[in-house]
Amino acid sequence: MSEASTLYSPTRDELATLLQGEPRYRLDQVWSGLYTQLAAPAEISNVPKALRERLAAELPTSLTQVVRKVSDQGDTIKYLWQLHDGSRIETVLMVYPDRVTVCVSSQAGCAMACGFCATGQAGFTRQLTVGEIVEQVVLAARDARGMGRRLANVVYMGMGEPMANEAAVWGSVERLHQAVGLSARHLTISTVGLIPGIRTLAQRPLPVNLAVSLHAANDELRDELVPINKRYPLDDLMDACADYLAAKGRRLSFEWALIDGVNDRPSDAAELAALCRRFRLPAHVNLIPLNPTPGYPTVGSPPSKVQAFHSLLTDRGVNATVRRNRGTDIDAACGQLAAGQPVELRKQRPSNNAE
Ligand code: SAH
Repeated sequence: MSEASTLYSPTRDELATLLQGEPRYRLDQVWSGLYTQLAAPAEISNVPKALRERLAAELPTSLTQVVRKVSDQGDTIKYLWQLHDGSRIETVLMVYPDRVTVCVSSQAGCAMACGFCATGQAGFTRQLTVGEIVEQVVLAARDARGMGRRLANVVYMGMGEPMANEAAVWGSVERLHQAVGLSARHLTISTVGLIPGIRTLAQRPLPVNLAVSLHAANDELRDELVPINKRYPLDDLMDACADYLAAKGRRLSFEWALIDGVNDRPSDAAELAALCRRFRLPAHVNLIPLNPTPGYPTVGSPPSKVQAFHSLLTDRGVNATVRRNRGTDIDAACGQLAAGQPVELRKQRPSNNAE
């Protein structure tokens, strides 16, 4: 097995290889211990101690908790993890009355350089592995279970661009679906709009939800807000979204961070409605007043403008909801994940080609 093998990296077949020489039922015991009972190897009590110790030694965990911060009366928890090479990532657990959702990172840092996003401001460090992504979910699910709740939803909306790490992201989707038993309908992958990734995802067998971080409905403004738009302009992106919808029949959503005076004008709402109409996209628009980040001067739209924008969309037949911000006080909200990167670092802008 590869050197980077960690507790949640082996597939079931790879684990079977590792357990060669053990009675065959051990594979089921270990697999369900890890993914159904959410147990650490030492806690898989129906397995002999010697094997538990061997597992712990050969398959180390990949996330070391640095900080666990709590907000919203315990309903939002942000974890800062250190990886084996010292890079850091964050995960956010959100507990709602009717569901529990975890927001996972897919990369340490991000190369997409969206100026309003703290992760983009800090630049790219490295890709995460399947095991590192899955472990974020398992640990959050374990924490949720400690609160008497079952985690059932995963959003790939933490640090990084999932579609720039599609293979590992997909490996994690399969594991969460097959081993943890999460429904593909409860998994949402968010992308800045990397068309090749969207097209690959459309070919994948499970119908996961796709979210596209749109933020602007014309190329001029989107080039400015989301630099990768220069490579993958709006019309091509909308075609890819339409094809994804046709292939999957799953929910498509657009994320729109409302930035005061930048993309919250009546003309922006009209353009967005026209874009959805032109491409016959029955998308659901999520409106998020921009959260503050250290490297971006402009602020979120005030509530009155948020409401006005929302009404303009719904008047034009576009489904839209205003997202309540969670965890802004602990920098856990959308666009605020920077894993404690110093502000100086955030000023260095990576090149747009550094995928
Ligand atoms: N890279 C992927 C996954 C990150 S999801 C993507 O772009 O979709 C994080 C979401 O938060 C994206 O929609 C992103 O555009 C949005 N976001 C970034 N900075 C933000 C901020 N300061 N306030 C509100 N939303 C922000």
